[in-house]
Amino acid sequence: MKLILLGAPGAGKGTVAKLLTELDGSVQISTGDILRGAVKAGTDLGKEAKGYMDAGDLVPDALIMGIMGERLQEDDCKAGFLLDGFPRTIPQAEELKTLLADLGIELDMAVSLDVPRDVILDRLTTRRTCSNSDCQAIYNVKSNPTKVEGVCDKCGSPTIQRDDETEEAISKRLETYNEKTAPLAGFYEGEGMLFSVNATSSDAVVKAIQDKLAS
Ligand code: AMP
Repeated sequence: MKLILLGAPGAGKGTVAKLLTELDGSVQISTGDILRGAVKAGTDLGKEAKGYMDAGDLVPDALIMGIMGERLQEDDCKAGFLLDGFPRTIPQAEELKTLLADLGIELDMAVSLDVPRDVILDRLTTRRTCSNSDCQAIYNVKSNPTKVEGVCDKCGSPTIQRDDETEEAISKRLETYNEKTAPLAGFYEGEGMLFSVNATSSDAVVKAIQDKLAS
C-alpha cells in the first residue's frame, strides 16, 4: 500500500504505520525519525534541523524535500510505503505530487487520523521513545508501559522523553500543526484522496484502512 498518514502530533501516525508495515511489507517513512537519527549522528542535516525541532517549529521545506526525493527512490519503497509526518505543509504536498508523478508512483489515499485535543495532549506528555535511533519503539507510561521502567522491551536501550515533548514544545507543535499542516486535509479532499478516521484505537484505524483499501 502507498499511503500518506495525516494527523496532529500524537494522533498515532507512527503506531498505525508500524502496524500497517506488518501487513504487506510496506515501509514506514517517518521524516521525524530520519531527522532525529541525523541529530543523533551529528550530521550537517542534524545540526541544521535540531534548533527547529527542539522549538517545535517545522524544518524548512527544501531540507525535507531533499531527504524525501532520495528516500522514495530507494528499493524498499517498491513494496509500498507509509508516509508518517510528511507532507507537513501545502508546498510539501504540491512538491510531493510532482515528485510522485515524475517517479510514476500512484498513492492509494491520504488517511487523516482525527483525535480530540485533550487525548493528544495526554498522549504526548506520557509518551516515551526508545533512544536507540535504529529502534525508536514508542511506549506510553499509562497505556503501553515498558516491562522494566525506562528500558526498551525490544532492544534494551533507555527510553526517553523527547526534547520536543516538554509542555512548551508540545503546545508550539500543536499550534504549528493547526496553522501549517491541518490545511492538508482540504488539499487531499480536493484531490479526491482523503479518508478520515476517528482514531482513538490504532487497531480500529488499521481495520478501517484495510476495509477501505479492499472496497
Ligand atoms: P514528528 O516526529 O513527525 O512529530 O517530527 C518531529 C519534528 O521533526 C517536527 O516537530 C519538525 O520539527 C520536524 N519534522 C518532521 N517532519 C517534518 C516535515 N515533513 N516538515 C518539516 N519538519 C518536519
